[in-house]
Amino acid sequence: MKICFASHNPGKVREIAELSPKGIEIIGLADLDVHDEIEETGSTLEENSQIKARYVYERFKIPVFADDSGLEVDALNGAPGVITARYAGPEKDNQKNIELLLKNLQNSNDRTAQFKSVITLINDGDEIQFEGIAVGDIIEEQRGTKGFGYDPIFVPKGFDRTFAEMDSEEKHKLSHRAKAFQKLLSYLGELNG
Ligand code: IMP
Repeated sequence: MKICFASHNPGKVREIAELSPKGIEIIGLADLDVHDEIEETGSTLEENSQIKARYVYERFKIPVFADDSGLEVDALNGAPGVITARYAGPEKDNQKNIELLLKNLQNSNDRTAQFKSVITLINDGDEIQFEGIAVGDIIEEQRGTKGFGYDPIFVPKGFDRTFAEMDSEEKHKLSHRAKAFQKLLSYLGELNG
């Protein structure tokens, strides 16, 4: 069974291909010769992952999945949420995003937040979504140099190190994205079994 992961990132596609059960072949957007940016016009992570998956399904009518992730901060009523990547502006600058978030949380004692990842799979026209969540706290200063995005200010619940202070192997056991992908992969394993 051949499935498209609606992503332009070859590293992400390879990672999922390596984790996939036997009999599942994962291809990326580049393999379909799709090079245009799919516009994320939805107002939720659920909608955006659906938009990306539908874009591919409508053009190629093949099984496809797409993911969308974001950070939801309780004291900010779930912001930055769907605009996590471009919180401080369209240039998607990680450092500026972090600084704006810390500024907006300056006077807040409630530092709880969650990373959320949503995957939409379309198979034979049927849509199914998988969700992964990593709960934690936003700390007041940046720590660590690994990872990406908001990792230097996010400490997962039950730990005292940020995601940016963890090796990727340790982060993968805890991360929202890994949890959502595990659900997808076990579903695909059942489909194929
Ligand atoms: P995407 O939908 O996976 O591209 O995620 C959107 C944005 O959320 C990224 O650009 C990051 O700013 C942030 N983000 C998502 N996942 C993580 C993570 O694991 N660590 C830090 N930031 C993340």
